[in-house]
Amino acid sequence: MWSRRRRASLQPFEINPMSDLALQPAESPRQCNCSRFLDLPLDEAAMNRWAEQYKLVRSGLKQVAQKRISRWLEHYRLYNCISCGQQWQASLMSGGLSDNFCLYKVPTIKVSEWLAEHYICPTAIVAFNKSIKTFLQQDFVQKLEECRDTGCVERAVTASVFCLRHQIESLIEAGSLAPRPKGRWFGPYSADMVSLSKYLE
Ligand SMILES: [Zn+2]
Ligand SMILES: [Zn+2]
Repeated sequence: MWSRRRRASLQPFEINPMSDLALQPAESPRQCNCSRFLDLPLDEAAMNRWAEQYKLVRSGLKQVAQKRISRWLEHYRLYNCISCGQQWQASLMSGGLSDNFCLYKVPTIKVSEWLAEHYICPTAIVAFNKSIKTFLQQDFVQKLEECRDTGCVERAVTASVFCLRHQIESLIEAGSLAPRPKGRWFGPYSADMVSLSKYLE
């Protein structure tokens, strides 16, 4: 569950990135809209609206690299703004959110470094958290048996040989729950935003 503390710490990002300003083209070809866009909030509805505007944001950007691990699942692109040099990453709205690409600003990085490890996708953070949250809506009851994971002393839960944490881990591994987001972390996002602990404390 989202704790009160975490909700408060997410406040700065809960700003709709799709402002009316974003719909207006830049005044001259030398100008760009980069500074008008805010960081993508970790909010599915805002992300879906944002992804719909992909083409609009995309104009004025030049693709400098692409990583296609799986065409419809893991597909990343790196762009430079022709006017100001701001870098943007695009990734698929995977994890059942939608099939669109979503674009967001990223810190400046060399193409070789980006190819070695792309940036984490905010959309993957939302997909992961949504998947865990939905799974935990079921009622779990602890059984008498211990969890079968080596060294774990927790008790197993209903319909599993594992404790809740290890059951979730095994479902992620099996692909039944959204994968843990992978990639280079960058502000305003951080690894604790995809920690299972916040749900299982
Ligand atoms: Zn720009
Ligand atoms: Zn366990």
